Amino acid sequence: METKKFLSSYLWDLEPYVPGYQPQNNEGLVKLNTNENPYPPSPRAVEAMRSAIGENLKLYPSFDCLSLRSAIAKMEGLSTENVFVGNGSDEVLSLCFPAFFKQEKPIAFFDITYAFYKVYCKFYQVEYDAIPLHSDYTAPLSAFHGQYGGVLIANPNAPTGIAASLREIEEVLRNNPDCVVLIDEAYQMFWGHTAAGLIETYPNLLVVRTLSKGYSLAGLRAAFALGQPHLIQALINMRDSFNSYNLDAIALAGATAAVEDTPYAVANAKKVMATREWFTEGLSGLGYQTLPSAANFVFTRPPRGDAQQVFEALAQRNIHVRHFTAPRTAEWLRISIGTQEEMERVLAALTEIG
Ligand code: PMP
Repeated sequence: METKKFLSSYLWDLEPYVPGYQPQNNEGLVKLNTNENPYPPSPRAVEAMRSAIGENLKLYPSFDCLSLRSAIAKMEGLSTENVFVGNGSDEVLSLCFPAFFKQEKPIAFFDITYAFYKVYCKFYQVEYDAIPLHSDYTAPLSAFHGQYGGVLIANPNAPTGIAASLREIEEVLRNNPDCVVLIDEAYQMFWGHTAAGLIETYPNLLVVRTLSKGYSLAGLRAAFALGQPHLIQALINMRDSFNSYNLDAIALAGATAAVEDTPYAVANAKKVMATREWFTEGLSGLGYQTLPSAANFVFTRPPRGDAQQVFEALAQRNIHVRHFTAPRTAEWLRISIGTQEEMERVLAALTEIG
C-alpha cells in the first residue's frame, strides 16, 4: 500500500537525530555513551518527586513554573523574568530555532558540535553555515563575527569537550549585536564558568542549561534558558503555541528541589572532574591523544586511530562508548566519565585491547 500519501511532504526527507544506544538491561554494563552522570540525583529531589505523586496529579501542573524559575533565578542572581524552563534542553533548543533563527541570513555553528543542531535546521528549514573547527579542534570564534542571522555555540563543545573562554564569548556577543547568540551550556557544571553573568549587558545573549548532566536528572527532562525578558517572553509565547504544560508536576517538584540543592550536584561534578583528570592521564600512558576536556566526557584518539575497532572491542567487554563516523571524528571516541571504579575498568580494558 502507498502510505507516503498520508504524510506531510516535509516529513519525507527528514533526518532525525540518532541518540546513543539506551540498553534496557543494565546488568554488568558500563554505560559511557550518552554523557549521563554516574552519581544519583539529590535525595531531596527524589523525596520531592515522591511527595508530588498523589491526588494532586488530577490537576494540571503550574503553567508559569514559578517555583522552579525562582529557584533558578535565585541561584543565578537573576529574576524570574530572566528564566524559561523546558522539557530538557532538546526542547528548549527546539523552541529557540523558530523563535530566533528563522532569519534572512543563515545561522552559524561549528562543523563538529552537537549533532541535533543540524536536525533542527532541517526541521525548521533554517539555513546554516558549519564553520570548521581548527585542526586541533579549538574554535575559531572570530569566524562568527557580524555576518549571520544567529550564532549557536555549545560551550564546552561536544563531542570535543573544549571550552572557549568567557572573553572570547563576549567578543562574539559584541560583534553580533543584531542577532541572538545562543550558548548551550549543557556541560557547564563540569567546567564551572558560565556566560550568564553577561546577560545584563547583552540583549542578544541566551544561555541554555540542562539538569540532565550536572544534576544527574537525564531521565526527568528538565532544562532552562537564561536571557533578558524579551527573549524569555518570546520562548514563553512559542511554548504556549505548542505545549503550555511542558513540565509535569513531578518534574517541576524534582527539578526545583534539585536546583535548591545545587551544592550536592557541584560536589558530584567535582568527583567527575577528578576522575576525568585521572582517566586522561591514564589514556596518555597508553598513547591515546585526548583533547583538554571541560565536560563530563573525553574525546580521545587511540594510538593507531582505529576507533571503530576499539569501540567494538569495548562493546564486547560490555563497555559502551560513542563513536561518530564523520570524517573528522572517525578516528576518535567520546567516552563519558563514570565513577572512578568504572573508569578503572575501562582503562584495564583498553590496556588489554592494546
Ligand atoms: N546540548 C548538548 C551540547 C548536549 O550534548 C545535549 C545532550 N545530548 C543536549 C544539549 C541535550 O540535553 P537534554 O535534552 O538532556 O537537556
